[in-house]
Amino acid sequence: MGKFKQISIEQQLDNWRNDLAVALFGMTNEEAQREGLCICCKEAVDQSSMADEEKQKYEVHALCPICYSNHSVAWDRRKA
Ligand SMILES: [Zn+2]
Repeated sequence: MGKFKQISIEQQLDNWRNDLAVALFGMTNEEAQREGLCICCKEAVDQSSMADEEKQKYEVHALCPICYSNHSVAWDRRKA
């Protein structure tokens, strides 16, 4: 038996996040960003026309501004 591979919590969370993204959207954030797509609607994301704040959100969530605001509304509702 091979030695149990130690991975950091960050790495484990990343793996889960990727698995979740694939389960929900069929691709990981990285794949969507590499293709320049929104992970949710699969539309091309034109970062040159985006505000810095929107670009940062895209870098974290791989969501276009429209999907980001849709998700934000849903998340806010859930919190309330
Ligand atoms: Zn989108």
